Amino acid sequence: MRNLIISALVFMSSICLAQNSKIVLSSRWFHPRNSNDTLSTLKVTKEFEVERLDWLYCDDTDKLNELSNLGIPFSLAINPQVTDSFGYSSLKMRMVNLYGKPIIAPWMRAWKISNPYWGCVNNVQFQELFLKASERMVDMGAYGIMVDDARFNDHAVEWGGCYCTFCLRAFNLFLVKRGVSFKRGFDYRDFKLSLNQSNDKYFKYFKEFQRESVIAFLKKWKEALKTYSANVVLLTNNFGGQWTDIYKVFDAGIAEFAESSANYDQVDTAIKNSNLLKKRQIFSYASRNEGKTLGFYLYSYFNNVEALIPWDTFLVSESTMDVKRFFINSDRMIPIVKFVKSTRDLLNGATNVSNSSLGIVAEANTRIRCYHLADGSLYLLAVIDLQSNVSKIKVTVPSQLVNQNSDIFKNTTKKMQGSMVTYEGDLILLKLT
Ligand SMILES: [Zn+2]
Repeated sequence: MRNLIISALVFMSSICLAQNSKIVLSSRWFHPRNSNDTLSTLKVTKEFEVERLDWLYCDDTDKLNELSNLGIPFSLAINPQVTDSFGYSSLKMRMVNLYGKPIIAPWMRAWKISNPYWGCVNNVQFQELFLKASERMVDMGAYGIMVDDARFNDHAVEWGGCYCTFCLRAFNLFLVKRGVSFKRGFDYRDFKLSLNQSNDKYFKYFKEFQRESVIAFLKKWKEALKTYSANVVLLTNNFGGQWTDIYKVFDAGIAEFAESSANYDQVDTAIKNSNLLKKRQIFSYASRNEGKTLGFYLYSYFNNVEALIPWDTFLVSESTMDVKRFFINSDRMIPIVKFVKSTRDLLNGATNVSNSSLGIVAEANTRIRCYHLADGSLYLLAVIDLQSNVSKIKVTVPSQLVNQNSDIFKNTTKKMQGSMVTYEGDLILLKLT
């Protein structure tokens, strides 16, 4: 009985989340950025009939007012490198390594930016800077604040930080709280510098300490910001759809999936986890393979998860830490967005139907799903597996399930063979009879 109630609640909550599903653009920067920039965020916002913008870096009030005038809510992004003095990340608020040198995230080392240094969550001045900057974003009309790279010090432990005086002092208190003994006047930084690293019995506590520092920092920030503006929504990028204790502080997560390592089992797990935790989950994925990019987008909405239109987003390669800006081609994206918009109320109540019971067969490299929509209509969605390198997939459907309007985007080739019809394309969406 209890399980029934729980699954009913989970089901209800996924419906509740889905009913609000919107067409969301990722425009990381507000274009044009200068007179040479031929891109326009407002133009694509209109082209794609965007209903919300997430993860936008912009501090130009005139530009933001244009979005507000169009009635489009936006979340503004903030990150550990939030600037404190004329576009720079000055050292007094930043994380440092054992030698007192500021830390740069490994994937940012090649970036030509004036503010590469990450703030330390234990630094009181940085805490204040981060809160004030967030409050300013609320004042600029943001419905939400998107914290980009919310792991802060927890992440920096992997790159040799942070050993600033704030951290060292707080670490000693943490050890006392944990009942771990240390000598009078203990300074973890000196200890580490004088020590053969393999004997560092304190390091496991240090990792725990930094993680807890980040959680405490974010909770304090959240409380202050919600006092400042009760309805502000707090988002973060929870890579791959993980909900660690750090990410759980947030109301919503934007799960990035790396082009090189993503797979649909990981996507399915992310959907299940966010439903169980009743967290709002949004997806972000882009691939140089257009079929994969568009297939991922449709797959998300068929599973009641919003996905960012990948326009001015990043192609994330996990293996090389290489990041490239990416803009989806409008010609194929627009019909996909229009389809999502016109069917989303029906998608809310969609249920899975087994494709084998319908006699539908897919070749390898294909993720295939059949859905009954809320109005009883039957759809087949076949997309390229994210791990495969093919550019085309093939699906065979019994001819009695097919009518002349089956192919929604008219982008597949069709071959009749006896009582079966074979479709081939980089993305197959059929409305079956
Ligand atoms: Zn520190």
